[in-house]
Amino acid sequence: MRYVSTRGTAPVLPFHEAMLTGLARDGGLYVPEHIPTFSLGEIRALAGLPYEEVARRVMLPFLGDSFTEDELAEDIARAYAGFAHPARAPLKQLDANHFLLELFHGPTLAFKDFAMQLIGQLFQRELTRRGSRVTIVGATSGDTGSAAIEAFRGLENVDVFILYPHGRVSEVQRRQMTTPAEDNVHALALDGHFDDCQARVKDMFNDFGFRDAVGLAGVNSINWARVLAQVVYYFTAATALGAPDRGVDFTVPTGNFGDIFAGDIARRMGLPIGRLVIATNQNDILHRCLTTGVYETHEVIPSISPSMDIQVSSNFERALFHAYGGDGAAVAQLMDELKTTGRFTVSQGALEALREIFASGRVSEDETAATITRTWAATRELLCPHSAVGVAVAEAHLDPARPMVTLATAHPAKFPAAVEAATGLHPPLPPHMETLYERPERVTEVPNDLAALETLIQERRHA
Ligand SMILES: *Cc1c(COP(=O)(O)O)cnc(C)c1O
Repeated sequence: MRYVSTRGTAPVLPFHEAMLTGLARDGGLYVPEHIPTFSLGEIRALAGLPYEEVARRVMLPFLGDSFTEDELAEDIARAYAGFAHPARAPLKQLDANHFLLELFHGPTLAFKDFAMQLIGQLFQRELTRRGSRVTIVGATSGDTGSAAIEAFRGLENVDVFILYPHGRVSEVQRRQMTTPAEDNVHALALDGHFDDCQARVKDMFNDFGFRDAVGLAGVNSINWARVLAQVVYYFTAATALGAPDRGVDFTVPTGNFGDIFAGDIARRMGLPIGRLVIATNQNDILHRCLTTGVYETHEVIPSISPSMDIQVSSNFERALFHAYGGDGAAVAQLMDELKTTGRFTVSQGALEALREIFASGRVSEDETAATITRTWAATRELLCPHSAVGVAVAEAHLDPARPMVTLATAHPAKFPAAVEAATGLHPPLPPHMETLYERPERVTEVPNDLAALETLIQERRHA
């Protein structure tokens, strides 16, 4: 199994190299050269298995010779042992044909733990094998950073630097990043938006001198290994609801397009997913693009679902690559256009290909809050604002022919202010996080400036 870049010119890599590299050297994202498929019988056999067993079966065909089956099974077991629910990704029923997939029972209370806990284990294994170390630099709108710091803190072969937009993450998110005491993790509060954080990380990856000097590695949602880990819960949810003998729709609260793209991979592997519905808040570049064919960045408007407050949706490039039939040159041209003009137009053929798979909807702040209120009243399920965006969009896309699964991407206690405003209830933190507000914080404020960031990382990393 080999991985190619969406822009067509970077070296072709095996799984472990694509995992350690993150962004391809031509600026593109790694995707599998071909996508393995499962027979109906193989999918049927997944129903009712433990999450870890489904994870092993779904991921193994993507690994090539990078890790053995036993190594994978061991790392999966370690990754999910700390989850607070035995099903790992339990399904709750909201209505006759509408289900909620709770992805927030990991250590930092967001779905990001599913991928990050696993790649922490895989990084450790691979770096120990080759006796080298890497410097992980990541941008976060809040949840990726806390999940990465939690997954990598104290690991021997890694330094982790996380850039988050100063003053624009929730207090729980910030404290999850600033309170771990291990000196291999570093929280950096950047003077700017999430898109600035993401742009500076991309700049560092494109500065090959710096990249090679510090052994730069990426764990943002562009990392293929993260996407792969997220494919698993589409299989557990769909088979629990009758797949492959009936189709299932999914609605996904979407920002960087990693989580929903994992659903597209599951579909290409043979899981009968009817539609994948993109749910966005008022930062709706993807909804506008699906509707008009024009992908155009606007200013970010801060919302009560901050993990989706982004305009450049990085993993969308992977969907474009498929929609353009694997034409890396065409994708590279669109991305150049985006960089110079802030927009591009998707070709008619590619737009049709995207619309065959994806639907989309956008939810205002008021509708998001009203959905939290209404869902609590009707079902006693407390939704975080991101999950509420998903539920609201899903309700507009229900199809009596198929069950709908909405991904609940974070625990309500991670965004207590919005939940309390909508319901009058203050969602309590789970027991393992009760001391979060008492622990001392450690953070460095940094300017939105590439040279200053590179200097700081050079100084702080362990050689
Ligand atoms: C990261 C995140 C999202 C967006 O996921 P993408 O994979 O970036 O589309 C949605 N909700 C929450 C709570 C998140 O942390």
